[in-house]
Amino acid sequence: MAFIQLCYFAAAVLFILGLKRMSSPKSARSGIVWAGAGMLVATLITFFTPGMSNYLLILIAIGVGSYVAWKSGKTVAMTDMPQMIAIYNGMGGGAAACIAAVELLKGGEHGFAVLLLGVLGALIGAVSFSGSVVAWAKLDGRMKKAIRFPNQKLVNLAVFALALLFGLIIVGKGHAGAFTIIVFFLAALAFGAMMALPIGGADMPVVISLFNAFTGLAVAFEGFVLQNAAMIIAGTVVGAAGTLLTQLMAKAMNRPISNVLFSNFGGGGGAAAEEEITGSMKASEPMDAAVQMCYAAKVIIVPGYGLAVAQAQHKVWELAELLEERGVEVKFAIHPVAGRMPGHMNVLLAEAGVPYDKIFDLDEINNEFASTDVSLVIGANDVVNPVAKSNPDSPIYGMPILNVDQSRNVLVIKRGQGAGFSGIENHLFYLDNTRMVYGDAQKVVAELIAHVKAL
Ligand code: NDP
Repeated sequence: MAFIQLCYFAAAVLFILGLKRMSSPKSARSGIVWAGAGMLVATLITFFTPGMSNYLLILIAIGVGSYVAWKSGKTVAMTDMPQMIAIYNGMGGGAAACIAAVELLKGGEHGFAVLLLGVLGALIGAVSFSGSVVAWAKLDGRMKKAIRFPNQKLVNLAVFALALLFGLIIVGKGHAGAFTIIVFFLAALAFGAMMALPIGGADMPVVISLFNAFTGLAVAFEGFVLQNAAMIIAGTVVGAAGTLLTQLMAKAMNRPISNVLFSNFGGGGGAAAEEEITGSMKASEPMDAAVQMCYAAKVIIVPGYGLAVAQAQHKVWELAELLEERGVEVKFAIHPVAGRMPGHMNVLLAEAGVPYDKIFDLDEINNEFASTDVSLVIGANDVVNPVAKSNPDSPIYGMPILNVDQSRNVLVIKRGQGAGFSGIENHLFYLDNTRMVYGDAQKVVAELIAHVKAL
């Protein structure tokens, strides 16, 4: 028994050291390996827990789960990574809810406190599972970004109250029947999905990190029920990291978390909220864009989701190096919600080998745009939309954006007139100092490189 606890302790140490390593892009890869090793230790030692049975079923489940995860991890396109992470996060919550279902059926075997924790874990885990499925469907383009109906908040509140009521009955009775437990789970699952349905605009990052925190909490609560130290520690670590991430994302969107949870989340928007746009989009050829950048003193590159779609990160770094060789100062500006998952752009630029001292967060660089000759926006849209500063009716109003519009010249690489994730028009594209360089980001940047070399 002491050996088992020692192994769980070792696993917990590995989780924490792994997470610590993930805090820097340089060591993040090894952090994943450390945490993975911790998970392996925790899983293996669980087989030696006294009273374990059903070994065959467990092995089959581990086999099927490992195969599916390995296969999908190997084959997933980089652009589909955010939705894969959303669904895998939901699986964690779902797994915690399943454990809870088994334990709740045992009922009175547990004391009041453990039953309470079990119900809480079940509620949070089920909400995280169904909410993450909706997030996955939205990110995958299978579902409309925001689904709203009259009295939605009231309906959501009623469903939540139902789940809470049945949860209390389970705790109160000690030995609730299957019917009560099923209604409880159905209400919790419905609430999770309904909570995610109305979220549109550009608010998805907040809710994705919130579900991440929920999953951690659910696992930790079920760890108490099963008296499993590894689950308690891993769950707490994920819950804490997810909570911090939620706070960061809410700050990036400039929304208090209470607003995220209880207000008309992602509200506003729609055609009615669009401000009238004056001016027109002015196209430019890669040749002209290359000349502009070559003779600039300072260029700031702003990557967005389109960079990930085009997989243009290596070409972009090649372009930056060429410009630097010509004496141009080049910096990269990253918005916290650029792309489709937290840290998306950092991962891509790190993969291309962009040095970390050239990459700047919104707060660090936003004052520099006014003194910048050229801002090169590559596949970014919502995160550079000045309407967030000017139109209170806009769904992204109040979200801090990169002040690209203040630079002397703006070059925007995108394929056509496509909107960003929030689906709203971008006023930046119509400004006098903006030129659109149309085409797939990788193709256009390759052309820019060719022209810069020739100049
Ligand atoms: P956006 O989604 O706002 O815009 C991406 C732009 O890229 C589109 O306008 C599109 O225009 C262009 N594009 C697409 N493919 C290509 C290509 N191959 N080559 C060139 N351009 C391309 O991206 P941002 O990064 O600016 O903003 C992220 C948005 O996603 C925010 O609204 C954020 O809230 C949301 N979000 C972020 C999450 C996160 O955790 N980071 C999670 C979920 C949502 P066109 O079609 O004309 O080419």
